[in-house]
Amino acid sequence: MGYRLRRAGWAAGVFIVAGSIFLSLATLPAPAVFWGLTWGVINGLAVLTGLDGSGLRRQVFLLGLNVVLVGGWQFYSTGPAAATVPFFLLLPVLVPLYRGQRRIALAGLGAGTLLAFYFLVRDNAADLSRWALLVGWAAVGAFILYLWWGLVARARQVVLLQAEAEDARREYQKACDRLAIMELAAITDDLTRIYNYRYFERTLDNLLVPGQKPRSLAVLMLDIDRFKEINDAFGHLTGNRVLVELAAILKEQTRDQDIVTRFGGEEFAVILPDTDYHGALQVAERIRQAIAGHVFQGEGKAIHLTVSTGVAVWPEDGVDKNEIIDRADSALYQAKTTGRNSVCAYRLLKVGRAVHG
Ligand code: GH3
Ligand code: MG
Ligand code: MG
Repeated sequence: MGYRLRRAGWAAGVFIVAGSIFLSLATLPAPAVFWGLTWGVINGLAVLTGLDGSGLRRQVFLLGLNVVLVGGWQFYSTGPAAATVPFFLLLPVLVPLYRGQRRIALAGLGAGTLLAFYFLVRDNAADLSRWALLVGWAAVGAFILYLWWGLVARARQVVLLQAEAEDARREYQKACDRLAIMELAAITDDLTRIYNYRYFERTLDNLLVPGQKPRSLAVLMLDIDRFKEINDAFGHLTGNRVLVELAAILKEQTRDQDIVTRFGGEEFAVILPDTDYHGALQVAERIRQAIAGHVFQGEGKAIHLTVSTGVAVWPEDGVDKNEIIDRADSALYQAKTTGRNSVCAYRLLKVGRAVHG
């Protein structure tokens, strides 16, 4: 579409300029024809050079050039009113034309054409050879109008299409934003704003894709010790605030690439990518100590709590997601049954050995 428009514009420009010069040279010094020459040459050049008439400087330049040309001719002309009337018609035509008021411009153009026609007929009625030029000039004028109108219609269509495309792009962006918000909500825990169980599972699935598996990966399962008692003593709302604070501690004690999630209730799960057995134990122990040493706030009273943690490491403790979760759970259960406030690794569980903490 863009190519066809450029080619049509180029052809229209050449035609307008050449036609105007030819007819005017043939009929000079008829004032009305000079008016047509000015209009045709200037606007033809505008089409050729891509001047669309928008932009204040271009408008002033084109308008000025018109006035200077016609004024110059007027200066040398000894013609009577016949020359003056079309000159003043320039302003009603050009100003609205450049301001995009096409109907007013066309009305002015129509009036100018009628006047030019009248003066041509009056001055040349006796000379039949001039009638051929008159008809030719009228045909050129009509053709120019036809081309110009076509260009305007196409330009308008392009603008409309661009506006529609922009609207569609904006709508698409909004839909993407909404989708991103919904996707984030689907994997975020409402209370603590950390990831939820769904994201925990999805991440483990993604990390353990065959062919892309990490060097090693550890999963920590944490459960708050005797949390019921905190709820009973301080109420569920305080219990909720404690869960939020605890989630913040987990985030603090882990790296950016670690995935901290609320597994459900007062249980949390952490994925530690590229972390081996010793690294996982270190992190779990650091978390345990940080929570045990933290003073949680409950209705003005200090709350102390501890967590029990189970550790399972891929690939030594389990070959797939379900096995790893299961093994971390078993280790957590072991940590609970052996006194709480402790870290238990599945590996030690297998050989019936001790628990950290
Ligand atoms: P332990 O784990 O040491 O065996 O004892 P516990 O008291 O923590 O027992 P358990 O893990 O079985 O109980 C979890 C309790 O956590 C039960 C419930 O009242 C509380 N809980 C679970 N989800 C929420 C929650 O979203 N908000 C609050 N305030 N409490 C919760
Ligand atoms: Mg629990
Ligand atoms: Mg518990």
